[in-house]
Amino acid sequence: MIIDSHLHLPGLREGKTLADSKEELLQELRKSNVDYAILIPDNTTVSEIGNLDEVLGLVEHDKNLFVMGTIDIQRDREPHTRKLDFLFRTRRIVAVKIFPGHDTIYPTDKRLVPAYELCIKYDLPMVIHTGANSRNPEPAKYNDPKHIVKVARRFPTLKIVIAHYFWPKVEYCYELTKPYANIHFDTSGLADDEVVEETGLDKIKKVLTSTVKQRPHSVVFGTDYAMCNIRKHIALVESLKISRQAKDEIFSENAIKLFHLSV
Ligand SMILES: [Zn+2]
Repeated sequence: MIIDSHLHLPGLREGKTLADSKEELLQELRKSNVDYAILIPDNTTVSEIGNLDEVLGLVEHDKNLFVMGTIDIQRDREPHTRKLDFLFRTRRIVAVKIFPGHDTIYPTDKRLVPAYELCIKYDLPMVIHTGANSRNPEPAKYNDPKHIVKVARRFPTLKIVIAHYFWPKVEYCYELTKPYANIHFDTSGLADDEVVEETGLDKIKKVLTSTVKQRPHSVVFGTDYAMCNIRKHIALVESLKISRQAKDEIFSENAIKLFHLSV
């Protein structure tokens, strides 16, 4: 079984609707033999890949699609706590994602604390975007793992998922986060051509292998489709020199436990 824990709808093209984007996504999942996926909406009101309410409405009847809640503490007028609490309670979201780097916020921002507390209450993860943006390393200062480990230390029962392994500095991210049992990683973006070129394929494989050996349940499969290619990410995990069992855990078992997925 394969669960893609990190993907997005394809961006809207002229004359197309979000429902068309969903069909395109479902087709891609079938082609790539992905059984379930966690869809991440944008955290802005108007977006090519759909906002939270749009994505929630879109997947209401799709048993194989789960949704991540997204928040924007800089622009959200109403406190997002009540909405998140409701969505967690009714099982309509399986995690929350924040975008330090896209947004000029640090994971240590105290406005995020209510969301962290809700994730703890429902034992569901906080997913944190990390790494350089295309040809622009500056945003990485906001999502440097040195801030994330402060959150991990302050909230030891908060399950944190680092997305994109803070590329290109994957080794630095590995070393810094090693002591924290509540920090997890998804593989999203790590098989992308630009990420591979700037980080080095050997380094990516080495760090993923070390992470799995050090903490067998801490890595979940993710792709960052439609920005990235699903099959390249499957090939990356398959290429690791780890046991079949460990690969199967990355592809599905770890995500089932981490996000409490009913599959
Ligand atoms: Zn993404």
